[in-house]
Amino acid sequence: MGPVIKVVSNEPEPRSWRLALRYLGRAMLLRCPVCGKSPIFPPLLSTRSLRHWFMPLDGCPRCGYAYEREPGYFLASTWVINYGTGSVLGIIIYVVLDFTTRLPIGELLAAVLTPIVLFNLLFARHSKALFIALDHFSDPHEKEPGEDGGNLPKPEGPTRDSGGPAEPVHPEPEFIHH
Ligand SMILES: [Zn+2]
Repeated sequence: MGPVIKVVSNEPEPRSWRLALRYLGRAMLLRCPVCGKSPIFPPLLSTRSLRHWFMPLDGCPRCGYAYEREPGYFLASTWVINYGTGSVLGIIIYVVLDFTTRLPIGELLAAVLTPIVLFNLLFARHSKALFIALDHFSDPHEKEPGEDGGNLPKPEGPTRDSGGPAEPVHPEPEFIHH
């Protein structure tokens, strides 16, 4: 075991490229953006279905950061990040194949669409993790520095849809489009 690095950062850190890269790295490792330690998703062996596999935990078991702030929170991540990236990938594959091969249109479509579908499946969790990180970076939802009494807040546990919200859900004013 290496040295135990204590990362208890409940104080909002000023935004910087360094912070952005750290969040990005944590997202790519599917870890909580705040503590960088706990996974966002349940372990593979405990997933019951594909849908469950895509579903983030309620919050970080270590630092209590709430992953899903409101219902439908991850719609943007799915559509913009996952499908958006998949579409760009598809366009690149199409252009490359179109210039380098003489495939019939059916095979060309299969060669373009198959990787997109696979990519969307494999990247779905990363897109949610990226979205959590991006949201936390642009709008940190952290506790006030004085609120943390030295101990990490204990979340309620891995309960999903457990009645009333434990914390007030803040609306996302930055996502309102005019
Ligand atoms: Zn955490």
